[in-house]
Amino acid sequence: MATGAIRAAQLERLHAGVESVLRSNRFYQARLHPVITWNDFERFPLTTKDEIMTDQQANPPFGTNLTFPLDTYSRLHQTSGTSGSRPLRWLDTPQSWEWWVRIWAEQIYGSAGVRPDDRVFFAFSFGPFIGFWSAFGGAERLGALVVPGGAMTTEQRLRTMIELRATVLCSTPTYAIRLAEAAQAAGIDLTASDIRITIHAGEPGASVDATRDLIERSFGARCFDHTGMTELGPTGVSCHARDGVHLIESEFVFEVRDDAGAVHSLPETGTITGELVATNLGRWGSPLIRYRTGDRVEVTRATCACGSPFAKMVGGIRGRVDDMFTVRGVNLYPSQVEELVRRYNAIGEFGIEIKQVRGMEEVTILCECQGDDGETTVSRLAADLRLALGARIECRQVPLGSLPRSELKSRRLIRA
Ligand SMILES: [Zn+2]
Repeated sequence: MATGAIRAAQLERLHAGVESVLRSNRFYQARLHPVITWNDFERFPLTTKDEIMTDQQANPPFGTNLTFPLDTYSRLHQTSGTSGSRPLRWLDTPQSWEWWVRIWAEQIYGSAGVRPDDRVFFAFSFGPFIGFWSAFGGAERLGALVVPGGAMTTEQRLRTMIELRATVLCSTPTYAIRLAEAAQAAGIDLTASDIRITIHAGEPGASVDATRDLIERSFGARCFDHTGMTELGPTGVSCHARDGVHLIESEFVFEVRDDAGAVHSLPETGTITGELVATNLGRWGSPLIRYRTGDRVEVTRATCACGSPFAKMVGGIRGRVDDMFTVRGVNLYPSQVEELVRRYNAIGEFGIEIKQVRGMEEVTILCECQGDDGETTVSRLAADLRLALGARIECRQVPLGSLPRSELKSRRLIRA
């Protein structure tokens, strides 16, 4: 499928979808007009999370971004609210849920090589957050055996995974590392387990080389990254080339907003860096048109060894646009720190503490270290950071178990 064919298929779906939105969706009626050409599409304003949030507060509980009568919708999910804000509520119709599940079954599990005879374990507490709900539905649709791992301790999850001979693990990357640590402490060799594939979402870790290597070594498995958002849907999947995450262009229109605020369609050649902007093409009941994801990406259309025609986010999502921090004039993202931290087996959880001191950001990397030699480890890490990132950053050992833990998304940035 060449780029021209991808674009033609996108335009056709936009044409029909926007037409239905214009008929009855109060949120978008005033912002959109019929789409005949790409010029029509590119004149649409961008949509921000703040606008959707404000709309939901003014029109509780679901807001006005609804194309169909309320009784058409069959599922409610909400965002995890990790950015400290109120969660967004999001409704799906049976058709839009089927769209999510199909993308998981065909594209995400397809790319990772998950088969109907696999047993997929979800190390995740299923709640209102979308989390791995769509992954669960997708695996079921594929014909795999699905095992929910909610309401269990880490030790119970390990035992269940091994006893049931699970072959695929779905979790956040940080939680996979926690499972590996717990296995090591209990004298369990996970490389001897049946797990052959791990799929991760929620944080960029599985696209950070050192983190992916650590997970692969711990489980003796191949590790894949997946990107998606509650309000948007499943946007990307990594492939066997292992150097990034493909954008699922059969189901979304992707654009990039550069640092000067200009929005560009994806380039035919070369790469483009900025904030990912996405429009979903299969969720017309509560669509997002030109939505600012807040994710910082570098996108290329260079040919990939896996043969996918879809553009690729080099190195996955680099971080949240608003997670950038500055050390003596050097702009950094948490994933750059993670890449160096994960080279040290002794470091488990870590956090990036940011304090405002006389109008300047003062940054300290907090590390929980195993073993007796934590001080040496953190001073070597500080030297690595200085060499690799050109920034002098203080690194400090903190007691085991003192950093915040989550099975959703780890909060690397601690703003004090
Ligand atoms: Zn590829």
